[in-house]
This record gives sequence, C-alpha cells and structure tokens, in this order.
Amino acid sequence: MPEAGEWEAVIGMEVHAHLKTASKMFCGCGTDYLGKPPNSNVCPVCLGLPGTLPVINRRAVELCLKSALALNCEIQLATKFDRKNYYYPDLPKGYQISQYDLPMSRAGWLEVDGKRVGITRVHLEEDTGRLVHAGDRLESADRSYVDLNRSGMPLMEVVSEPDLRSAAEARDFAMALRGILRAVGAGEADMEKGQLRAEANVSIRPRGSEELGVKTELKNINSFRALFNAVEYEIKRQARELEAGRKVVQETRGWSEPERRTFSQRSKEVAQDYRYFPEPDLPPLAFAPDWIADLKGSLPELPAARRERLVSERGLSEYQARLLAGDLEVADYLEELVRLGLPAQPAANWMIGEMLPRDEPLVVAAAETAELLRRLEAGAINRDQARAVLDQLYETGKPVVELAAGLEQISDAGALAGVIDSVLAANPTAVADFKAGKEAAIGPLVGKVMQATGGSANPKLARDLLLARLKR
Ligand SMILES: [Zn+2]
Repeated sequence: MPEAGEWEAVIGMEVHAHLKTASKMFCGCGTDYLGKPPNSNVCPVCLGLPGTLPVINRRAVELCLKSALALNCEIQLATKFDRKNYYYPDLPKGYQISQYDLPMSRAGWLEVDGKRVGITRVHLEEDTGRLVHAGDRLESADRSYVDLNRSGMPLMEVVSEPDLRSAAEARDFAMALRGILRAVGAGEADMEKGQLRAEANVSIRPRGSEELGVKTELKNINSFRALFNAVEYEIKRQARELEAGRKVVQETRGWSEPERRTFSQRSKEVAQDYRYFPEPDLPPLAFAPDWIADLKGSLPELPAARRERLVSERGLSEYQARLLAGDLEVADYLEELVRLGLPAQPAANWMIGEMLPRDEPLVVAAAETAELLRRLEAGAINRDQARAVLDQLYETGKPVVELAAGLEQISDAGALAGVIDSVLAANPTAVADFKAGKEAAIGPLVGKVMQATGGSANPKLARDLLLARLKR
C-alpha cells in the first residue's frame, strides 16, 4: 500500500455547455429562460407532449462544430442523434435526445498548463428541465417542483481523456475550455449561471502504476473554485479509504460547497441501462466537407494563439500572457490599452494585480483605465493613489479626470525634506538598526513618510532621500 502522497490522481472531465442560440435545440422557444416564471418558456415540443416532432437547430449544430474544430477534433461527416432513455421527473418524455455511437466529432485536444489533454468527443444534445427542492437539500425537502424552462436548451457535451493529474489541472481545463467557447462565440459558459457544468471523473492509483483505479463522478459543481475544491477533497478521500484498507465505490458524488465535502448520491449507471437507439424523428446528418472547411476558416484567433502573440508582439512574459489570453474580453481589453498608447508590460501588470481579482473587472472603460495609467506612468500620482482612484472608478463610474483632480504625487525633494527630517528624528531605533547594517529597516521609514504625507509622496523618491540622509 503506497504511503500518503504517493498516489497519483487520474481525472477526466465531462463538461456540458449551453450554446448561444436564439431558440432551443428542437423547438422555437427562446433561450433566455433565466429569471422567468417557472414553466413559462415552454411549448409542446420541449414539454415532451406526445405527437410533437423535433426540428434540428442549425445554428446549434454550427456552434458545436466550431467548438469541436477549435478543440482540434476530427469532424464526423456522418452523424446522428440517439435517444437516451431514462425516467426522471425533469424529463417528461422519458428520453433525452443525445448522440451515442456517432458523435459529431472525436479525437481532439486542448492545451492545459502546457500539456495536451485529449478530447474524446464533442457532441450535441438537449438539456433537461430542473427540479427545485423546497429546502436546501433533497433529504430534508418535503416537496419538489419541476420547472421545464430549461428543457430542450441546446447543450454541447465535451468529454476529455483521463489525462488530468491534479485539481488545479481539472480547474484549468474547465477555464481553458470556457476561453475557447467564448472565443468562438459558442456560449458565455458562465458556471455560476449554469451555462457551463463540469463533472470530474476522479480515481487514484499508486504513482507509476498504469492501471486505472475505481472512479467516482463528481457533480453539483458551480464554480471553478468549487471544481478545484471538490477534486482536491475527493483525491484525499479516496486515498484515506484505500489507506484504511477499504474500497472506493464507483458512484456519483455531489459536492456540498457549504460543508466542503463530497457525498454519495447514487451508484453509477452503465451505458446499456439507457438503452440508446437512433432517434426515429430526426434524419441522420451528412456534413458537406466544404461547409466544415468554411467553418474552420471562420474560426477567430484562439486563446493559445493569442497567448503566443501577446508574448511575441507585445513583449509580455509567458506568465502574464497566460493570465490574460484565456479570456477573449480580457485580452481585448489589454490590447485596447496598448492601442491607447500604454506600454504593454505595466498595463498587463496593472490588470493582473489590480483589476482581474475584482468581481466584474472589465466594467471600467478601457479609456478610463488608460487615463489613470498614464498619470501613474508619468509619476503624476503614485501607486497607492492610483489604486484609490481605481476603487472610486469601480464604485462611482465617474471619470478619472474628476476623481484624480487635486491628487498629486510629491516628487519634489525640497517639499519632502522637512518630512524626512521629522521621520528620522521620531524613529531613532529604526535609524540605529539601519546604521548597524539592517537594511530592511528602511521599509518602515518609507512607510512613515508616506503616512506623514497622506500617501502622496513619491515612494521611490522618499526612499532615495532617506538612504541619502542615512548614508551621509
Ligand atoms: Zn419549446
């Protein structure tokens, strides 16, 4: 039995993404169902009433193919839909239209953290309705409601090979996939809104072993952070089970974010339980090679290419480029700042350090950010002041010229001389420490100067002046 830490995780992903179409997969109902009264965004087709006939949404097929091409998949020119039969209250017609043995595409790859992760298949299906439980948890709910607004939403499933080896890689896979779906216009892929649902198949094995362990399938994950936490938890749980001489049971496990643990939901079905068979109400599809070639030619610049270009053309580091290129809008924002005349490096650093950690980082217009950064770069204001103006920008939306009016960085040695004198006089211990060779003592002294000037001193100048005085 391996020691703790000698286990290797083997993770494959199944990701479902809503496609950005005007209407549902097989009917004319609209797709912006979020926030609508329950069961108001439905028709006989997506309600699953007997006697109705589905009609394939061409745009959904196109978006699925574009996504598959962007994921380096081979497109299958002959494809068909199948019925996946199962009974559940959110699926009134008793089957889901999906794809089984002839998916639209196979055998692609996606680069994640510098390595290629295999894409097994990308196929198209319809989403189910949704159960709403009264009470937070199914066990404690005394009733459940069915809302079919989501029923029939165009849904693309992306299945990966079990090539991922850590929770971080699983999360980065989902983020990279979101970047691609947004870049090709396939969908918003917002996990919090349920537009992207990631399930991770997790097993562990002794490091160096080629055999696969028993896997569990993790569900109920609604953010990238939850994906990371769930996989991390599950790897540790499986190791604990095996180290205690118990077995990992093949099952579906839910993730409880408040409790930060996975819990058993149900034992896993195997494929034949679904009794797949060709959907008799839909014709098989045959794609013209020319159309596929056109779709391939129409693909925009994808995140990997954008990342390379940000390095080669803009001079960003690999690290900066990786953080910025994954999201089309973020990368566009940076390039807009550059177009507005800012040097790429400091603009990238500012975005990474000050903007991206915020909830809605890009609500501030690029022109305003550029105005702010120009002042910072020119030394008219210091970093702390710029940060304070940025906070105000997010809060009030007022223009920088107004917010930064009156703010000024003291970059005049004469104006700081008096402050330097009094700070040195008031901090004899730090001064003595510095003179005794403890150079780090300069930090708190700079801090005192900043404090004494209400944050408006040029910190580099303050530091230089202090050093000059101390070394005199
Ligand atoms: Zn409908």
